[in-house]
Amino acid sequence: MHYKSYTLANFRKLPQINYLSEQEIFDIEVVAHVFPFKVNNYVVEKLIDWDNYKNDPIFNLVFPNKGMLLEDEYERIANLLKNNAPKDELLKVVNEIRWAHNPHPAGQMDKNVPEIDGHKLRGSQHKYRETILFFPKQGQTCHSYCTFCFRWPQFIGIDSLKFAMKEVDILIEYIHRHPSITDILFTGGDPLIMSAKILRTYIAPILEAKKNGYIDIRTIRFGTKSVLYWPYRYLTDPDAEEILQIFRDIRAAGLHLTLPLHINHWRELITEEVQEAIYKIQQTGAILRSQSPLLRHINAESETWAKKWQMEVELNIVPYYMFMARDTGAQHYFGVPIVEAWQIFRNAYNKVSGIARTVRGPSMSATPGKILINGVVEINGQKYINLTFIQGRNPDWVGRPFFAQYDEKALWIDELKPAFTDKFFFEVEPVPEH
Ligand code: SF4
Repeated sequence: MHYKSYTLANFRKLPQINYLSEQEIFDIEVVAHVFPFKVNNYVVEKLIDWDNYKNDPIFNLVFPNKGMLLEDEYERIANLLKNNAPKDELLKVVNEIRWAHNPHPAGQMDKNVPEIDGHKLRGSQHKYRETILFFPKQGQTCHSYCTFCFRWPQFIGIDSLKFAMKEVDILIEYIHRHPSITDILFTGGDPLIMSAKILRTYIAPILEAKKNGYIDIRTIRFGTKSVLYWPYRYLTDPDAEEILQIFRDIRAAGLHLTLPLHINHWRELITEEVQEAIYKIQQTGAILRSQSPLLRHINAESETWAKKWQMEVELNIVPYYMFMARDTGAQHYFGVPIVEAWQIFRNAYNKVSGIARTVRGPSMSATPGKILINGVVEINGQKYINLTFIQGRNPDWVGRPFFAQYDEKALWIDELKPAFTDKFFFEVEPVPEH
């Protein structure tokens, strides 16, 4: 299959466009002016059930929906488009709406940017002691865009919001000066959208520095959706074999290599191509893990999760995380409240064997750290929500349970109120420098 992609500019040319009504096409156009939209021919042809597209999770995963905008936001853009408003007028309103959707959640633009000799490493984040996130410049796009994506600002051309770092040497120097770092997480966008040649320019110096003892990293992670959105990356793309060779080289250097895959629904796992790509990657010694947010309109049922984890286990993928939809973009549309999310998780967890219970969740990647929702407990007839840090900006917070007042509507940690005290401990305790 040759890669073809469709965006706002050309999606009317999709062979399947006749399935959609003129109103639905217009709705997609309205929303795609605000949030990024791109879908490729593999997803359109192999994953979406067009006879049932309205309820199809993959359709909802890649095609923008009217509900992603608030009513007045939708009306503003729709009216401008209907009246053929000048481009700059349209863009002004589009940008106003984008900024209203919290484009950089969890303080990632200012709080986690590492610094070396007074120079900020804008293309990386060092939030947790052991792990550094690296956003290679050429990996800041994806084969298709997910409608819920929390990294959406990177894809809409607001340059000030883009991460991306070219200089791997600076990264290595930073790791050298921070020996607590054991893991490098390549992320994006999708770092495995890069050509093998470019990927090697990043990986080779890291392996060399490891070999010379200059850095002591143990794990390389590639956060990717490429396996699900474009499995040919590992099968028939011209550099498919070279990518797999890089994986083998990482393993041969004695490093753990893992690909946390964004798998949002078990339907993404059913094609022969995906299963073959998974097998090929596993043959290199890489371990595949799976993670996804819990998303209304896409996967917000316990049966879907149980089936997903079960299929993953059968394909030798380790179920890893269920996340909460982040407080950005169209969270009002995709988000599931904390209490309901815990119930869905618990019901799904109960349906699978112990082998699939490697999964953790539901978890919020919030400003103070990764917060796990343990569940609802009743004390003296009063309900509370119990939570724990899986990762914290202060390592001492990890594993410390705490309570919040019961709230069935809250979608995110900042909507919860502490129980038994005025403030959560992480609001008052200091965050040490790395
Ligand atoms: S693959 Fe990941 S980074 Fe890319 S659009 Fe989807 S969620 Fe966002």
